[in-house]
Amino acid sequence: MKIARTKQLKEKPDYSKLGFGKYFTDHMIVMDYVNGKWNELEIVAYSQFSFDPSMNAMHYGQGIFDGLKAYANTNGEIQLFRPTENLNRFNRSAARLCMPEIDIDVVLRGLKKLIDIDREWLPKEDGTSIYIRPTMLGTEEALGVHPSKSYRFFIILSPVASYYANGLEPVKILVEEKLVRAVTGGTGNIKCMGNYAASLLAGARANEKGYAQVLWLDAYEHKYAEEVGAMNIFFVIDGIVKTPQLLGSILPGITRDSVIALLKDEGVPIEETRISIEEVVSAHKNGKLDEVFGSGTAAVISPVGVLGYNGVDLIINNNKMGKLSAGLYKKLTDIQYGRSQDKFGWIEKI
Ligand SMILES: *Cc1c(COP(=O)(O)O)cnc(C)c1O
Repeated sequence: MKIARTKQLKEKPDYSKLGFGKYFTDHMIVMDYVNGKWNELEIVAYSQFSFDPSMNAMHYGQGIFDGLKAYANTNGEIQLFRPTENLNRFNRSAARLCMPEIDIDVVLRGLKKLIDIDREWLPKEDGTSIYIRPTMLGTEEALGVHPSKSYRFFIILSPVASYYANGLEPVKILVEEKLVRAVTGGTGNIKCMGNYAASLLAGARANEKGYAQVLWLDAYEHKYAEEVGAMNIFFVIDGIVKTPQLLGSILPGITRDSVIALLKDEGVPIEETRISIEEVVSAHKNGKLDEVFGSGTAAVISPVGVLGYNGVDLIINNNKMGKLSAGLYKKLTDIQYGRSQDKFGWIEKI
């Protein structure tokens, strides 16, 4: 690991107006892949990149990323939540797009060092964190559809506010009946850049109609729930928690996996299964749709208060966050911020 600290530290932003992903710390990780191997990982000043206009990623989209967070715990230490899971997923994304895998030990050591160097940037307010964005781009300077011969891997850090600056407000979601996010055999189960570009139109149309995001359905029958925006989705129907099973088109969320583990640990019935939109509508009609929520690193748990389908708005749990969702939010964040014991071994200190 090479470290070149900058002396020109940036001015910190107004921490009461952090928002999400708007500010970046003083340093970053850069590691290039050339001639069939990774160069040494470097920690350098956060700065712009210069790339050739012919670079692979700009034309054929060899570009992947992941997202995780660092949290200040109650002892003033900094800790990561399941970082190895994120880096393993990053390598699965790389393999799917014919990109080279990273050495997880090397990168995790580099990441801890980077966070330590920029530790002054960690906000201390409740619910805040440093969002970590590992990214890789194909950088070969040539046109022609083939795997790039060279790559740039980098990690940038962004101090972020609590997702719930105004409290845990449920969101309005529109069921998307025409556009689809992903198909089995495609790239829906990895974090590649193109997935997000392809999802923007549905999200924008939903916004125009007053909804925050869409509920994606399966690509074949437009019948089964898949994900909500860029979060995994859970339905609580008649006391049973159900989440779509991973059949290749759904992103295997680490928050999703943690929710399932917590529910199993508490003996709450949880099923990974197929959930048709008709099942959801009929549960709602019979008063058995207890709760609906999304899960993801950014929001942790995001309650769905309204589900728009077929011109009708289904109101869920009086448009309030449900008991089960609230309990999961508390348990997960208590572990992430070190307020409760980490009996699952999910925490890694810097
Ligand atoms: C990142 C992501 C998720 C959530 O994954 P986490 O590991 O829980 O943050 C869910 N769906 C999509 C499409 C995603 O990109």
